Amino acid sequence: PPAIMWFRRDLRLSDHPALLAAADSGEVLPLFVLDDRLLGPAGEPRKHFLYDCLRALDHDLGGRLHIAHGDPVKVVPEIARKLGAGSVHVSADTGPYGRERDEQVRTALGDIDFVRTGSPYAVTPGRVRKQDGEPYRVFTPFRRAWLDHGWRKPAKSGVDSARWTTLKGGRKIPAGKSELPAGERAALQVWADFRDGALADYDAGRDRPDRNGTSYLSAYLRWGCVHPRTLLADLGPGNETFRSELAWREFYADVLWHQPRTARENYDRKFDKFEHDSGRTAQRRFEAWCEGRTGYPVVDAGMRQLLAENWMHNRVRMIVASFLVKDLHVPWWWGARHFMRNLIDGDLASNQHNWQWVAGCGTDAAPYFRIFNPITQGEKFDPNGDYVRKYVPELRGVQGKAVHKLDKLPGEYPAPIVDHADERRVSLERYDAIRT
Ligand code: FAD
Repeated sequence: PPAIMWFRRDLRLSDHPALLAAADSGEVLPLFVLDDRLLGPAGEPRKHFLYDCLRALDHDLGGRLHIAHGDPVKVVPEIARKLGAGSVHVSADTGPYGRERDEQVRTALGDIDFVRTGSPYAVTPGRVRKQDGEPYRVFTPFRRAWLDHGWRKPAKSGVDSARWTTLKGGRKIPAGKSELPAGERAALQVWADFRDGALADYDAGRDRPDRNGTSYLSAYLRWGCVHPRTLLADLGPGNETFRSELAWREFYADVLWHQPRTARENYDRKFDKFEHDSGRTAQRRFEAWCEGRTGYPVVDAGMRQLLAENWMHNRVRMIVASFLVKDLHVPWWWGARHFMRNLIDGDLASNQHNWQWVAGCGTDAAPYFRIFNPITQGEKFDPNGDYVRKYVPELRGVQGKAVHKLDKLPGEYPAPIVDHADERRVSLERYDAIRT
């Protein structure tokens, strides 16, 4: 009987173990299910990028991608029965919703096999453990064990052996209007450009938002247009820093797998008692932050980059997150939600845990008292002010690094909404209150 390849976060045809497993069965129906429970909170930018990735995948499948709409627990078994499928193949989804959904789909399929092969990670979350079987709580030892664990070599091809089949009654792929070129081919091109270019200077370049020093692969990794294994296989001994960034992605997926509650709650429970502001002033400040009107140039540049491009440089993500939590005293999850709605690479594991890292309540607990100074961060990582000028038009007339000097900024630019030194003190007092 034919098999179904149910695509989710693996929108590619090469280096795809689940697809190879499906192809072993003979004829394969490629399927994607538009699930409102996932699409609802996704935000327009991420949805549009998904639609464009689906269109690219459909193109590579010769127009055979079958699109369904609805609850996968109902839809997948219905399609499987209609097709007379013997098996449904997937790459494992290791997030909280995906795991629960997949269990229900497996049950609803009855005697049709539900086969999980591989995952969106080099090492499937849950596999890397301490000697006593416990999960790692700190990144550096996790990374070491993750490297020791190793991963399979990229599979050469996925499609040569597959015979595709089709089914009547599929939906159309919704129109997408993503600025970023979508799909597997684009991902491989972006990777090749970075690998042969900025990767050599990644250690120094990655912290500079005024340069194109990072890979810009996060949205492609989010949807599996490229698998991290493919990237890891191209790296050499000099690429330790880039390998570590991929390891962070794997670490946070592992943390979420072991403790799904951390998608919504503090990893460090001590912070449940931490005092946040949530009244009208906090709301007003939060809005100013979202719109890039805080009066702190590098913060505003970052927030406006997010609105303009639906992506933000990692260093600036850290600066704006720290500012929200430690200067405006707003709960980290307000900011995390705004990020998830606007980021094209919005990923539950990476987003929620990076936010918690910045807020001090996550794994690895970045020491709470190390509070970013938004001015000196700007001066250090955007030394000529080019990044700020690019995203904050009111400051385009200010020369060089003077864009970081609050007392030198023109009147049309907002005055600082808070005083950093005062708010830093407030944060430290509140931290002292929960420390013991
Ligand atoms: P590169 O520097 O080229 O890194 C390569 C890849 O490594 C990235 O694509 C990403 O998959 C991974 N990576 C790098 N840094 C991290 C990290 N700190 N944590 C986890 N993975 C990492 N990344 C997301 O993919 N989705 C998110 O929703 C997300 N939210 C974030 C929220 C905050 C508050 C912070 C501080 C960071 C967040 N990150 C998130 C991590 C990081 O900022 C982005 O992965 C990175 O900026 C993407 O750009 P790039 O692909 O050019 O990165």
